[in-house]
Amino acid sequence: MSELTQRLQPQTGSRRPRVVIVGAGFAGLHAAKALGHQPVDVTVVDRRNHHTFQPLLYQVALAVLSPANIAQPIRSILRKQSNTQVLMDEVTGIDLEKHQIELGSGARLPYDYLVLATGATHSYFGHDDWAPFAPGLKSIEDAVEIRRRVLLAFELAERQMQERGWHPPLNFVVIGGGPTGVELAGAIIDIAKLYMRHDFRHIDPSKARVLLLDSGPRVLAAYPEDLSAKAESELAGLGVEVHTKSHVTAVGPGWVEANDQRIDAAVILWAAGVQASPLGKLLGAPTDKRGCVIVDDRLNPPGLPEIFVLGDLAHLEQDGRQIPGVAQPAMQMGDHVARMVAADLAGKRRPPFHYFDKGDMSTIGRMAAVAKIEWPFKAHWSGIPAWLTWLTVHIFFLIGFRNRVSVFSAWIWSYFTFTRGARIITGDQRLPGWQDKVTAGPQTNPAQQPQEQNVEAGR
Ligand SMILES: Cc1cc2nc3c(=O)[nH]c(=O)nc-3n(C[C@H](O)[C@H](O)[C@H](O)COP(=O)(O)OP(=O)(O)OC[C@H]3O[C@@H](n4cnc5c(N)ncnc54)[C@H](O)[C@@H]3O)c2cc1C
Repeated sequence: MSELTQRLQPQTGSRRPRVVIVGAGFAGLHAAKALGHQPVDVTVVDRRNHHTFQPLLYQVALAVLSPANIAQPIRSILRKQSNTQVLMDEVTGIDLEKHQIELGSGARLPYDYLVLATGATHSYFGHDDWAPFAPGLKSIEDAVEIRRRVLLAFELAERQMQERGWHPPLNFVVIGGGPTGVELAGAIIDIAKLYMRHDFRHIDPSKARVLLLDSGPRVLAAYPEDLSAKAESELAGLGVEVHTKSHVTAVGPGWVEANDQRIDAAVILWAAGVQASPLGKLLGAPTDKRGCVIVDDRLNPPGLPEIFVLGDLAHLEQDGRQIPGVAQPAMQMGDHVARMVAADLAGKRRPPFHYFDKGDMSTIGRMAAVAKIEWPFKAHWSGIPAWLTWLTVHIFFLIGFRNRVSVFSAWIWSYFTFTRGARIITGDQRLPGWQDKVTAGPQTNPAQQPQEQNVEAGR
């Protein structure tokens, strides 16, 4: 019988062990599902009522999909598990001595096992004042805000062109050349060049510029060099201007400063950095420089066998390398927690966690992607084969049959009709810095001149 099981027995008596899971992302949800058949009582706490399929957030941001296509109520996903309850609340504290978590509502929740899976958030590297000018993409709310800004930029340009015969430059600047930045840049150029080209009368959306800035020497730095190079050439083929070794030093309303040059931007998007959820720090355990909790191969921080830290919040090394913060390890860690709890209850030794890497994929745009396949064979793919693999894998992993059907039909519709069903602008009708550029006019600001080429006879 393990040390923890011994500790649980006298405390719990005939009561079943209580497992509290904080966060219903990939890791937490997989843990909850895998614990569905164990003799434990599970409580899933999340500050949102829905699970978000983050890999498709950029498609909500660029109007391919609607929010409901990629999000599902946590309560409904787990409704058939009789040993599981769901609580919508924010966890604000952890009382390690009393084995309780503190909730935003003021309540406290006792646990025998605590599973922390609160993921990661954006990092502006100490420049949080940049956030209002350059939103990042992590939640449905972020995606809807990015969609608002991108679509609004075209609308404002059309209005401005009609009224004054010119408009400020339609530059879209994406900061950060990781998978999210690459996806966003490719999707913006797609919507500008392919999906909106017949919709405006006074501007030509295909003349919009998309700039992807990264401080490193190549995009998709976590991928092998050949795939980075492919990604860069596919981006260039779509029309994205890739600027590597481009160090952003300041961001303001409608402009970015990089390598001492100021770039005018209608919309700026931030995809440059992530940091762990602040909850990890509450454990008092060692963390890495991003705030991820350092765990052992049983997913425990040192000295806390009743606490498991999973997914993006965990820092775990395997074969001398850190396991990446992506969906596969998060899901596998979630499943593994159930195995370890089952081992405890059976009085057996907990099995160590081993990440089974099936590979990595990143989409770039319509019919463009790169894939590093690790299983069932090893290969590096790009172009259409990688894109088709990406589509298949994402449909497969989407949660809920209804979502799979709705996403698949939205893709088919969008692919063949060159239209996007979710081009909805909600909320504020202003963009940071836009009105200042309009007021300054084309004469006083030569940087705004290039978009005069957007004037087209008869349109
Ligand atoms: C835009 C984007 C695109 C991505 N694309 C891919 C991809 O193509 N392939 C891939 O493998 N990975 C991708 N990822 C990464 C992948 O989504 C993450 O690695 C994965 O979601 C991590 O899962 P998680 O469970 O650790 O955290 P998350 O999925 O982030 O879930 C954390 C959960 O915790 C909740 N939470 C946070 N704080 C609290 C609190 N204090 N109290 C209560 N609840 C809280 C949140 O509401 C959330 O539901 C992408 C990520 C992003 C943002």
